[in-house]
Amino acid sequence: MEREREFVSIRWVVAGILIGIVGGLLLNRAGGTESPVFETVALGGDLFIRLLRMVIVPLVVASLITAAAGLDTRYLGRLGGVTLVYYTATTVLAAALGLVIVNLIDPGVGAVLQGTELPKELQERQPPTFADLLRNLIPANPIDALARTDMLQIISFSLIVGIALNIMGERAQSLKQFVGEVLDLSMVIVRWVLYLLPVGVALLLMRAIGQAGFEVFAPLAKYMGAVLGGLAIHGLIVLPLLVWLLGGMPPWRFLAGITQPMITALSTSSSAATLPVTMRTVERELKVPGYISRFCIPIGATVNMDGTALYEAVAALFIAQAYGVQLDLTQQVVVLFTATLAAIGAAGIPSAGLFTMVIVLQAVNLPLEGIGLILAVDRILDMFRTMVNVEGDAGGAVILTNIVGRK
Ligand code: ASP
Repeated sequence: MEREREFVSIRWVVAGILIGIVGGLLLNRAGGTESPVFETVALGGDLFIRLLRMVIVPLVVASLITAAAGLDTRYLGRLGGVTLVYYTATTVLAAALGLVIVNLIDPGVGAVLQGTELPKELQERQPPTFADLLRNLIPANPIDALARTDMLQIISFSLIVGIALNIMGERAQSLKQFVGEVLDLSMVIVRWVLYLLPVGVALLLMRAIGQAGFEVFAPLAKYMGAVLGGLAIHGLIVLPLLVWLLGGMPPWRFLAGITQPMITALSTSSSAATLPVTMRTVERELKVPGYISRFCIPIGATVNMDGTALYEAVAALFIAQAYGVQLDLTQQVVVLFTATLAAIGAAGIPSAGLFTMVIVLQAVNLPLEGIGLILAVDRILDMFRTMVNVEGDAGGAVILTNIVGRK
């Protein structure tokens, strides 16, 4: 395929970031959400996110069906197996790193904090049982799942349809071609949306910084440092090293290649909204073959969340420390596994990880009100953990290409 011209140069995107930061600080000083400009900025940012979200459902469905219908079933099985092992292993690794850091820094010991009242949905939240999780994998009505953008259900439905088309072979030729065209169509729209990336980034950052209450940061500085430090180690050392060792791609090439999805993740705080950009980037910049990216990126954006796992582990221990509760080694192992589960269960949308934290806190008998202690800085931390979530997906695509091999 002829290489399309890239209209959005990285210089524009960097300009967008700078304008977003400076504009956000000014907006914050000018009254934040009270300022008359805020509403316009927020509206602009929303429009950009909605454009990205608009293509997610057709893109995910068409990607997964095409992948499952077009791959040899043995290859698909291997790809699926290695994908699951990679996603789970790196998520556990990230949560473990979070635990090590929080034990070293002890950000919650002696912290004098003021809790924020929890939103109602969170107060009434019950952790799902294993049976619920399993039940939720299968949509009773696929149209309903599509309408609600229930990603896990959409993934299982699309894979089942893809495998059925695969088995139908020649008889399903026209259907396969149709789905392939839907995929191409979605990617054309993604390209258009990407032209707006610099503007979208500027507006979204302006909104996030404009409404941030910086005064609440001081007492939580150590906690923020633990989360951000952990994310930096995982994102700048662990993942690039894995991509180098297991994927054969030098770290600088990997990190330079993924700037667009990283910045989109930072500004949208949503792996799902970033998915179209991630997909395009891994194929074009990291040269991952389409039959691999179409399979592992939609699944990764939904279940593979290293940044969230790390954050959940740090946050749970921070809350324990702030309440003066000592968690022994066994309880910390429980945190390790529940943080992994909570990350897998979190949807790729802003603050999803905050909600699934209930699973971790209840597992080690910590009060849910503890979430109120960290609520104030969640928005900012969400931006950075989403970046690491997306980076893990992109890195996974490179590693899988190397391990499972090209067709
Ligand atoms: N916002 C994150 C994501 O979309 C999920 C989270 O809240 O941790 O990846």
